[in-house]
Amino acid sequence: MRQGLRAVAFWVLLVGAGVPALAGPCAVCGKPILFGTIYLMPDKEEDRQKEVCETCHLLNHQCSLCRLPVTAEATALPDGRYLCPRDAQSAVLEADRAKELCTDA
Ligand SMILES: [Zn+2]
Ligand SMILES: [Zn+2]
Repeated sequence: MRQGLRAVAFWVLLVGAGVPALAGPCAVCGKPILFGTIYLMPDKEEDRQKEVCETCHLLNHQCSLCRLPVTAEATALPDGRYLCPRDAQSAVLEADRAKELCTDA
């Protein structure tokens, strides 16, 4: 079953690379992927494959939540982990909510 999924992903990658108009923006930098290879990388937070451009695919750091690569602007946590902009935002929101709950109690 997993093997079948991978074959489909590979097909999408080939078709996507051949037809730039169908390729969505890179999930990491947000730029349209017009050249090079489109990499399908699993987003652990949304539990689905995201299209990532070649440049972002080669980034050294990854978000500790969704496991997608993060750019230099990513939020670095004091313990050395990184959060992508989306997950940094939701982490802040959750922290705020936790604070609210604490003050309410
Ligand atoms: Zn990118
Ligand atoms: Zn993330």
